[in-house]
Amino acid sequence: MSTAPVSSWCATSSFSPAHSSLKRAAAAAALRPSLSARLGPSSSSSSVSPPTLIRNEPVFAAPVPVINPNWREDMGKDYDEAIEALKKLLSEKGDLKATAAAKVEQITAELQTAPPDGKPSSSVERIKTGFTFFKKEKYDKNPALYGELAKGQSPKFMVFACSDSRVCPSHVLDFQPGEAFMVRNVANMVPPYDQIKYAGTGSAVEYAVLHLKVQEIVVIGHSACGGIKGLMTFPFDGSTSTDFIEEWVKIGLPAKAKVNAKFPGAPLPELCGHCEKEAVNVSLGNLLTYPFVRDGLVNKTLSLKGGYYDFVNGTFELWGLDFGLSPPLSV
Ligand SMILES: [Zn+2]
Repeated sequence: MSTAPVSSWCATSSFSPAHSSLKRAAAAAALRPSLSARLGPSSSSSSVSPPTLIRNEPVFAAPVPVINPNWREDMGKDYDEAIEALKKLLSEKGDLKATAAAKVEQITAELQTAPPDGKPSSSVERIKTGFTFFKKEKYDKNPALYGELAKGQSPKFMVFACSDSRVCPSHVLDFQPGEAFMVRNVANMVPPYDQIKYAGTGSAVEYAVLHLKVQEIVVIGHSACGGIKGLMTFPFDGSTSTDFIEEWVKIGLPAKAKVNAKFPGAPLPELCGHCEKEAVNVSLGNLLTYPFVRDGLVNKTLSLKGGYYDFVNGTFELWGLDFGLSPPLSV
């Protein structure tokens, strides 16, 4: 598969909502057919394997007394039934019998050794503590804000950010509830318009632009991004070592190609740093493949921005399609 070249517009040109820019957008979209054409699963995923014990584990271990503190009394029978169902399921999978027996024993032991007072696990306790703090310190102290939000939302921003636990935009940019409609995924990528392959992202963009009428779409990259490191190191030679990640991060292949061409022989960390920003530009370009985004730009009801949060040095950069919108901001 050939790699689509990086669209030239995203490096230097400034965007103005004129037809010439739309031509560039159309050209950018045309440059990426190879990224959206492969709809089928890879050969490695052609056979559907049954759910594994590991995948079933959370299902059977999940009910913990959070909402209903009396769950053990009320739901004990359900647990017994669950265990029986698990035994039955596993007994039908001969090759899994040994693991099955161990798993059933473990789950049964966990249930039997749970404190009789139903004391929750540390993770459940953490969630309860967190919500209690939020409710007491924020929700209850801001009845006007939460009263308004109860009626509806009208966020100014749509934000794409990485799923990385260190880069939550609500923390980094102090977004308050109702301010930012958010999509977070591996490597903060916006895929090109594709109603089948990328319906999840497309529905979010459509809802944000057409229904919420956000004024800004901001794509935020970040330092030390594992997804971008994957993009820079996966071979993309037809072999795959992941179920989903390679297929997803290859949205950023044009950025990888550009960075490799521009900084040949540079050490991987440096290449990754460049790619973390360049992949944001690819996402901004991909946003132009959504017709309602283009309409918003032409009508000047919408603008696009790229951002980069460096949590090593504590800085944040912001740029528009013409780049250099603002100098780096020290946090
Ligand atoms: Zn990341």
